[in-house]
Amino acid sequence: MFSHWAEQRRRMVERQLRGRGIRDERVLQAMARIPREEFIPAAERASAYEDRPIPIGFGQTISQPYMTALMAQELELSGGEDVLEIGAGSGYAAAVLSQLAARVIAVEIVPGLAESAGENLSRLGCCENAVVITGDASLGYSELAPYDAISVAAGAPELPPQLLDQLKDPGRLVIPVGPLSDQELLVVAKRDGAIVSRTAALCRFVPLRGGGGWG
Ligand code: SAH
Repeated sequence: MFSHWAEQRRRMVERQLRGRGIRDERVLQAMARIPREEFIPAAERASAYEDRPIPIGFGQTISQPYMTALMAQELELSGGEDVLEIGAGSGYAAAVLSQLAARVIAVEIVPGLAESAGENLSRLGCCENAVVITGDASLGYSELAPYDAISVAAGAPELPPQLLDQLKDPGRLVIPVGPLSDQELLVVAKRDGAIVSRTAALCRFVPLRGGGGWG
């Protein structure tokens, strides 16, 4: 089975990521290394490398591989960063980010998912610099702020200003913003006290719950 998964992983990196413009070699290598199938419930595992989000239980999904790669690439990580991920889900994106940064704090609001994300990360032994915390991080996670990078993996009606407050200068943040039906992936950079943002893609994420999200 190993070579079967490894072959699917290799094809995912070449076709879905490199073939579509993901250029950051560190991101490509991380996604070539992390076994995505290990983050997917048994019933859905055969679909692990398909080009779409996959259900992970509790009405939530693991993002499409391309979206995980694009978000990681837009954070422009070089290895020394503290990263906050809001919406750990399966733990897969946290695992990918852990290969690219010094430390990853991944917060998940659904306790059952937080538990399995933590188990996935420790079982694989790949990602000791990533921790999963149960809670609502729609207004960030001030206990360990500030962060060099923040990745929001659920869609918000708008960018909660508290997240900008928890971002270092320089720092980078990605967040899907817009109505429940479809969003824009906003890339926000803080530098020399200024905030610059642009849209990197159109996307469709599960809703961000809590005070900074849809309630
Ligand atoms: N990055 C994940 C996919 C995330 S799906 C992966 O790689 O698998 C979005 C996740 O955000 C869901 O698991 C959802 O429960 C979680 N979420 C939604 N609102 C949240 C909030 N306010 N705080 C923390 N997690 C939240």
